[in-house]
Amino acid sequence: MLGYMATLFTRIIQREIPATIVYEDDHVVAFRDIAPQAPVHIVIVTRAEIPGLAALPNSGDHTHLLNAARIIAEQQGLANGYRLVINQGEDGGQTVDHLHAHLLGGRSLSWPPG
Ligand code: AMP
Repeated sequence: MLGYMATLFTRIIQREIPATIVYEDDHVVAFRDIAPQAPVHIVIVTRAEIPGLAALPNSGDHTHLLNAARIIAEQQGLANGYRLVINQGEDGGQTVDHLHAHLLGGRSLSWPPG
């Protein structure tokens, strides 16, 4: 059937594809990344199918990802620090066109990223 096709992350949100979900609220769902780049690597996805940060509307409450990241970091015991990353577009290394942030922690992270 042509027409609407859910993103990979929407299919995870709808439990059509298995994932280890660690947090969810009215606005975001968070699950363990399938290819973790750190001992803790969690993808935090907006329930809304926004293609990426560049497509975020000007107006509205955009604090949901940040609030979720802080709560999840506390839950995951990342008191020593962590990193929150949003990849945007080709140069940013974005591979899934559904707005999400990566929460990385559990080891010392180098800077700058590659
Ligand atoms: P990005 O490259 O910023 O678009 O991030 C997409 C992330 O989704 C990558 O880190 C992938 O490892 C991760 N990923 C892709 N498929 C899955 C999946 N089925 N379950 C969990 N994480 C996934």
